[in-house]
Order: sequence, then structure tokens, then C-alpha cells
Amino acid sequence: MSFSAGPVPERRVDIDLAALRHNVRHIAEIASPARVMAVVKADGYGHGAVPVAMAALEAGARWLGVAHIAEAVELRRAGIEAPILAWLHTESSDFAAAIELGVDLGISGWELAHVVAEARRIERPARVHLKIDTGLGRNGCPPEQWEALLGRALEHQEDGLLRVVGVFSHLAVADEPDREETDEQIDRFREAVAVAEDAGVDLEVRHLANTPGTLARPDAHFDLVRVGLGIYGLSPFDGQSSEELGLRPVMSFRTTIANCKEVPEGHGVSYGLAYRTDKRTTLGLVPVGYGDGVPRVATGAPVSVGGRFYPVVGRIAMDQFVIDFEETGIADSEDSPLGQEAVLFGAGGGTPTADDWARASGSINYEIVTRISPRVTRRYVDSEAIDAEADQ
Ligand SMILES: *Cc1c(COP(=O)(O)O)cnc(C)c1O
Repeated sequence: MSFSAGPVPERRVDIDLAALRHNVRHIAEIASPARVMAVVKADGYGHGAVPVAMAALEAGARWLGVAHIAEAVELRRAGIEAPILAWLHTESSDFAAAIELGVDLGISGWELAHVVAEARRIERPARVHLKIDTGLGRNGCPPEQWEALLGRALEHQEDGLLRVVGVFSHLAVADEPDREETDEQIDRFREAVAVAEDAGVDLEVRHLANTPGTLARPDAHFDLVRVGLGIYGLSPFDGQSSEELGLRPVMSFRTTIANCKEVPEGHGVSYGLAYRTDKRTTLGLVPVGYGDGVPRVATGAPVSVGGRFYPVVGRIAMDQFVIDFEETGIADSEDSPLGQEAVLFGAGGGTPTADDWARASGSINYEIVTRISPRVTRRYVDSEAIDAEADQ
């Protein structure tokens, strides 16, 4: 059983842009009439920010969201003209570049003075979204300072140095839909928006929801939803798969079996000899490791070869790890696994998932896809085009 056309890759991540467009369309329908901001920070959660941004806009996303101004600059340099919001700054951030390139800025407080100074110097108004902390306790303006922040921002607006176009906040526990803190956050957000509007702010967009908020809380949609994980086809909920949410995983991680040999019972495997075979068996060598972004602690995670799943045994090393085929007589046979394709995770339905790797490593699917290292080649595929070819 083969998973992709063409030769088996040494090690490669395939990014299916048709799946990404499907996910964006699906989420846009759920969010409507609210618009979708495709969140493409951290190099598009490891999928490649520019190709993901372009595909998301093609599929109906109206906004792009990133953490850093430098990430927004990369998108503008690639010719992307859609509205972009960047929300995490330091005193060294290049606010001037953001203003010059028409990048919207999320503002929690201290940034305002820097933004205004740059706007005055380059004689262009900044577009800002004021952020209120409704309970996450990370970035955002404390509620008791909200009116003062609004007042300062409106003064600068009158001076022509900025325009307040948005108010936003971020949810803390939306991935656990039963928790009441989300209700409290939504209430606080409504209040903050009302205070802003009473103060005379003319808002283009009010936004609060991330992926879980978008999927589970229609009352958190407001004008715009900021969706990262979902556009990559992954589920934010513990008990619900991508498929159950109507999403298609975008990233597949493929490699090939680099060595295959039969070993006796009691043979140790990998550093520390933390695993010993409990019978005579065949081991397969998978040529990726933590140097490629595979979590070192993910022993036990599944890898599919020839349509069957085999567990990682022993420690994962920098460049390689071992799987146990639990069979004998195959290493030198005609269907030796040597050279066959090995899939760490893919689109589900016959392959392991990023969720399997998250469980094995005590992490979350967000981290599994985001941490794949530059040593792994990325290839952009379009399953719609592949389907069309296959139909001919
Ligand atoms: C990363 C991020 C998002 C996207 O979150 P997902 O759960 O991936 O949808 C939205 N808003 C902010 C402020 C973020 O930092």
C-alpha cells in the first residue's frame, strides 16, 4: 500500500493546500456572518506562512493574524495586501515598518506611546486594535485601566496619529466547552466593547474567538474570528477528531525505512537500552529524530508502514528512531520494509495523526506540527489537483 505518488521521500512534510482551503471554507460557514482571520504565526504553525496565507485568502479568509510585526512584514514582502494584525510586541519591535506597510497593531498599553512616536515621525496614522484582558492573564489591558487606555488612544486619534479600528481579547479555556470562565470572558468583552463605543470609538471589528471558541461558542463570534489550528485541519478538543469536526489535516510527515534487521530476544534498542525485545523480532530504522522536530519523549507513538501501525521503541535520537515490526522472516524477504514509506502522521484514515504524537509526547497537536524543523523538506501538494488527475 502506497500513500503518495512518486518516489518515497527521504524525509518530507507534505502540505495539502486543497485541505487547507476546505477547512477555511468550512470555518467561514460556521463563523458567518463573522469574518475569518487566518492565523499564520510561527510560519503558519509550521506549514509555511506565505503559501498558507495565500490559500486561506483564496478560500475566503478576509484577514491574516500573526504574533510578530516581523511575521507581518514577511507577508507584505510576498505581495499580500489583505489586512494583517500583529499583536505581540517588545520595545525593540519595528513599529515604523508596521505603520509604513499598513499592518494593524494590537495594543495592550505601553505600546501606544511607541506607536504614536513612530506615526508622528513618519507622518502616517497607525491602525490599532485595543486589547482587553478578559481573564487570560497574559497580554491585554487590565479592565480597570481600560477607560484610561481608550481615552489616550482617542486623544491621539484626534491628533491624526492613529485610528482605533478594533477591540479584541483572547479566550483561556474555550477548548473545554463546559467551563464557565468562557461565559465570564464573553461578558467582560461585551462590557469593554460597550465602554469603547460609549467613548465614541467607531469600530470596524470586535474579535474574541480562537478555533475552539469559533467551533463551540457562536456567542463569541462578534465580527471576526481568529482561527489558527482549525485551518490546519486539527481539532482543539480532547474528545473530538478532525473528521468529526469536518476538518482535513493539512500536514503529512513522510519518510522511509532506512534499515531493517532481525534481532534476537532480549536485544537492546537505542541509547540507554531503555527497550529490550521480548522475542525474536524485526526492527525498522526510521531516519528522523528530534533534530527534525520529532519530540524526543514520544516513544510509543505510531508509525504506519504498508498500511499498518508500528510503535516507536526505545529512545528517539537526534536523527533516528526504531520501530518494532513484531515479525520475523521479513527483513531479507521480497517485501522487506527496507525502502518502504513510513508515515509519522497524515490526514488520518489509514495514517496516524498529529493527535497520536501529541498523546505519546504529553503535548498538544499545535506543538507537533509547529516544531518540525527546517531540516525536513516541505512540499506543497493540492489534493484537488491530484484527485482531478486520478479521475482522468
Ligand atoms: C494563536 C492565537 C490565535 C489562534 O488560536 P487557535 O487556537 O490556533 O485558533 C488567536 N488569537 C491569538 C491572540 C493568538 O495568539
